[in-house]
Amino acid sequence: MEGCLFCGIVAGSVPSTEVLDSETCYAFRDINPAAPVHVLVVPKEHYESVEAVGSAQAVLLGDLFDAIRAVAAKEGIAESGYRVVTNVGEDAGQLVHHLHFHVLGGRSLRWPPKGSDAGG
Ligand code: 5GP
Ligand code: ZN
Repeated sequence: MEGCLFCGIVAGSVPSTEVLDSETCYAFRDINPAAPVHVLVVPKEHYESVEAVGSAQAVLLGDLFDAIRAVAAKEGIAESGYRVVTNVGEDAGQLVHHLHFHVLGGRSLRWPPKGSDAGG
């Protein structure tokens, strides 16, 4: 989608630090990490948020969770544990309106989320 930051990152016109690249998903390091591991996993196709996906995107959603697990394994946090966060809309503080999952780990994370533990 024109003007979308994460579409630009997927297209390579905006630089990013790649963690994983699959046919349908891309994962890259958050520019402002809230934890030692902070990776963003996005579908290559543009969807605004969780509000825009469902059973019609079942395969893609499976691919996203495969990518999330692969990122956790690659970053060495699959065993120690990690948090997956997706912000939806204003009250959640969604800044980039392209569906993305924050994968956070590498330290003990507080719950419920406060401050930087919110993941963005
Ligand atoms: P949101 O609040 O929309 O869930 O989170 C957006 C995330 O994207 C934030 O954690 C922010 O640090 C990250 N971000 C914003 N701009 C860029 C960028 O240009 N490159 C990268 N790698 N991350 C970004
Ligand atoms: Zn987009």
